[in-house]
Amino acid sequence: MLLGCHLSIAGGLHRVFEQAQKLDINAVQLFSHNARSWRLEPLTPEEVERFQQAWRASPVEYVVIHTSYLINLASPKRNVYYGSIHALRKEIERAGQLGIRHVNTHVGAHLGVGVEEGLRRVARALAQALESEEAEGHPDVMVLLENDAGAGTSLGARFEELGAILDNLPPRLRARVGVCFDTCHGFAAGYDFRTPEGLSQTLKAMDRAFGLERLKLVHVNDSKHPLGSRKDRHEHIGRGHIGLEGFRLVVNHPKLRALPFILETPKADDEAEKLDSEMDVVNLNTIRSLRAD
Ligand code: ZN
Ligand code: MN
Ligand code: MN
Repeated sequence: MLLGCHLSIAGGLHRVFEQAQKLDINAVQLFSHNARSWRLEPLTPEEVERFQQAWRASPVEYVVIHTSYLINLASPKRNVYYGSIHALRKEIERAGQLGIRHVNTHVGAHLGVGVEEGLRRVARALAQALESEEAEGHPDVMVLLENDAGAGTSLGARFEELGAILDNLPPRLRARVGVCFDTCHGFAAGYDFRTPEGLSQTLKAMDRAFGLERLKLVHVNDSKHPLGSRKDRHEHIGRGHIGLEGFRLVVNHPKLRALPFILETPKADDEAEKLDSEMDVVNLNTIRSLRAD
């Protein structure tokens, strides 16, 4: 099973592999820089070499970069829109340099210009990033669009919206864009996959909207808020409204089980005051216990 979690890059990008070893995971998600800043310093050859060396010595098979939270590929504000395209270009370049195949990003929020115009802006931004000078040498890097919980004017909560972005892309670029399904976001957006029928309906909805073969990654997060709440608050696996049985179905479904599963659950446990990686251990073990081999 490809299983892992979002890890900190404190101390350098290559440090994720030490943490992965401690957690006994073979999949990793990371920010390639401070995710709350627009600054993206070029990677030094030493950084790239250290990362690749640590990766070669590690059992980790799958690595994905998550883009900065500041990115809004639909923004009607000129500086944010062009800043987002620039940041995505740089993330694609960094992924290519590091040997990482997937760059996962939130789609963004239309902030009042409307869903259709927002989705068109996203497709235009993606095209500009994928055809940029930075991305030029890295045609193997794929951008994954993450489904959203649907708060405010954010786009991508409905699978049809992700499908529309793909439809709006020039056909030559479509093979370079995939989808990530976040269970917390999907549940908050109203997709109820807690029963076998519900999960099957949810997967059919994805297939109709963008083609299930485009689904490349699953974020496994329970939800603090109920079905359809449109609130994006992650909960530890089994302690939220999705519950253990929902995750048992997700991690074992024949159409999902070969995909990488990445946890983005809270790092700390308020009740037991367990810190950082301790809660990752708990959530990873929960997922492992649900997986049937
Ligand atoms: Zn995300
Ligand atoms: Mn997510
Ligand atoms: Mn989230």
